[in-house]
Amino acid sequence: MKQIAIVSGKGGTGKTTLSSSLGILFKNTILADCDVDAANLNLMFNSKIIEKYDYYGGKKAVIDPKKCDGCGICKEVCRFEAVIYKNNIYKIDQYACEGCNACVISCPQKAIKLTESLSGNYYYSTSENKNIVHANLNPGEETSGGLVAEVRKLSIEKGKILKKEIILIDGAPGIGCPATSSITATYFVIIVTEPTSSGIHDLKRIIDTVKHFKRNFAIVINKYDINEEITNKIEEFCKTENIEILGKIPFDETVEEAILNTRPVVTYENSKAAKAIIEIYKKLLKIIKEEGKNYENSNSI
Ligand code: SF4
Ligand code: SF4
Repeated sequence: MKQIAIVSGKGGTGKTTLSSSLGILFKNTILADCDVDAANLNLMFNSKIIEKYDYYGGKKAVIDPKKCDGCGICKEVCRFEAVIYKNNIYKIDQYACEGCNACVISCPQKAIKLTESLSGNYYYSTSENKNIVHANLNPGEETSGGLVAEVRKLSIEKGKILKKEIILIDGAPGIGCPATSSITATYFVIIVTEPTSSGIHDLKRIIDTVKHFKRNFAIVINKYDINEEITNKIEEFCKTENIEILGKIPFDETVEEAILNTRPVVTYENSKAAKAIIEIYKKLLKIIKEEGKNYENSNSI
């Protein structure tokens, strides 16, 4: 199984448009939605949840009211303002608690302990012809690389059972922990960018991150015709840096329609964007078939 990650320097660059369409074009694939903050790949395929798993991302403090004598030391030591004093009772705000343990070790009555906290869930879903692993974080939880890792592990597990050839990863945007968890040990990374004023800056940051993890990668410029001047700059930069441009997707109102109808845009026959994505798919296929043996292929995270 080859793991291909689709990432971007920031959200909203058309990553899911590309991932969902490649999910249609690659027949024998399993999809892993690692954009756990805004998971929507399952919606694009109208999939049904088959399996649900709990994700415990960290620990939170809990006060035992029977042991607490109301001294207030925990409130003084908490740097995250997670201890609330209301109606003469000390309580922990579970959304604000960072599980740092400071209150636990400071409480003279040993009334506080850290407990495992349910941070979110991850799922295995299927639709007519697709298998998708996706997740969601509980409100107030910070995006977690740990949850991304769980999504990737489950997609590998299911992919092996189903004898899939490709795992398509819709990666978390940016360059933080969830984003890096989306690209580690992948076979190939597609970086999606848009020609906006911050586009080149975001692009350079994500390229540096992907290079740091020594992944092979190429660029896709989405909505390239909304600002051809910046698109030219991106192309010049890629040429100087010897970076391959896998394709350029034009602005196409059908993309918006496809999102509203929760359908991958590639299912629209007359879409300009769909045609560009099919060309990207063909190039990717060529890379996999002809150059694949030169790329590192790892199935572990
Ligand atoms: S430090 Fe312990 S005893 Fe004091 S208010 Fe907090 S929980 Fe209660
Ligand atoms: S564990 Fe840390 S963050 Fe949570 S309530 Fe205690 S001191 Fe505050």
